[in-house]
Amino acid sequence: MSQKRIAIFGSTGSIGRQALDVIAANPQLFSAEILTAQTNDELLIKQALQFNPNMVVIGDEQRYLNVKEALAGTSIKIFAGEDALEQVAGMDSYDMMLAAIVGYAGLRPTLKAIELGKPIALANKETLVVAGDIIMRMAAEKRIPIIPVDSEHSAIFQCLVGEGRNKIEKIVLTASGGPFLGKKPNFLVNVKKDHALQHPNWRMGAKITIDSATLMNKGLEMIEAKWLFNLAYEQVQVLVHPQSIVHSMVQFEDGSIKAQMGLPDMKLPIQYALGFPQRIANDFPRYDFRKPGTLTFEEPDIKTFRNLGLAMEAMKQGGNMPCILNAANEIAVYAFLRNRIGFLDITEVVERTMGTISFIEKPTLEQYFETDGEARNFAASLLHM
Ligand code: NAD
Ligand code: MG
Repeated sequence: MSQKRIAIFGSTGSIGRQALDVIAANPQLFSAEILTAQTNDELLIKQALQFNPNMVVIGDEQRYLNVKEALAGTSIKIFAGEDALEQVAGMDSYDMMLAAIVGYAGLRPTLKAIELGKPIALANKETLVVAGDIIMRMAAEKRIPIIPVDSEHSAIFQCLVGEGRNKIEKIVLTASGGPFLGKKPNFLVNVKKDHALQHPNWRMGAKITIDSATLMNKGLEMIEAKWLFNLAYEQVQVLVHPQSIVHSMVQFEDGSIKAQMGLPDMKLPIQYALGFPQRIANDFPRYDFRKPGTLTFEEPDIKTFRNLGLAMEAMKQGGNMPCILNAANEIAVYAFLRNRIGFLDITEVVERTMGTISFIEKPTLEQYFETDGEARNFAASLLHM
């Protein structure tokens, strides 16, 4: 296999950094062609000096000069500003995009890469939540794979290898339950961000960590799974599995169930997506069934964690409802992270936004963009509650 040139969009994040670890460990297989960061110019510079990419993008234009100065002795091309992400995504110098930007901001560069016919390793689930129908249709037209990086979807993807046209009866998405598993609203009402940011099993960026605590993350993942694997609402089930060893399961027409397992470590699904269809040897710690421990599964408490119920509702309704849900959730989560609203208010903001913004059954891409903007504005107007 010749060296695959990877464009990492969001290289300074949790997924981006781990992807660079994978690349550093496999220099014969991968190189970093493009690196992008929004604000963390110091880390972007460090990464650029280590990996010598062709191009880097710093989103925050005020940090452009700093990056330029630091990389002055190199041949690395430097871009800045929001539009630069799409511009660079549209360049033909890479073989695969790792979409590892967080939130709606990841949508446009990913669309650009698909337009160009580049395979996508997709960490940014919000892209599929917002415009999954359009993304999957475009990818099919261009005959490019969207290979999931999200651990649950990577698990399902791995279970489906070799299954050809065999029909899926249902999938089971496992959820760790987050730091507040078993808690009730009277506890959650007073929860502060420092506590919500303590995930029991995974070290991730702040937004997805809060989404995991509210179970919105699992709701977004149900919608992500719907699009990736072409499933109906009834075919996607969620089970809480606090040990995070079974990363998800597929049940086929004959009742047979396949699961993908391992210790929780995002480097594994990242490496699988970058190297697919090849598995790559590594020395990551292994799960050992001989060690004492029990694997447990239980139904999620959607009465307490209402975000999951709202996401299921949005998934059932379809159209632009998941886009509304996602936009409101982004606004609410960042408000919670700035201590502006309480933990349970996140649900309130999402629910009220879903009840207000006009429903569109079959939106165009332009209408998704508009919906996102309207939903954000409305959600922001609720923050003074
Ligand atoms: P993070 O917050 O650690 O990193 C986000 C990256 O995106 C950073 O490089 C940042 O510079 C960039 N970014 C942020 N806002 C941006 C903007 N407006 N424009 C351009 N770039 C921007 O996030 P993360 O935890 O690495 O998650 C990235 C994506 O992967 C998310 O969609 C998340 O849901 C998904 N994901 C993450 C994990 C994980 O373990 N971290 C697991 C599964 C899925
Ligand atoms: Mg996940």
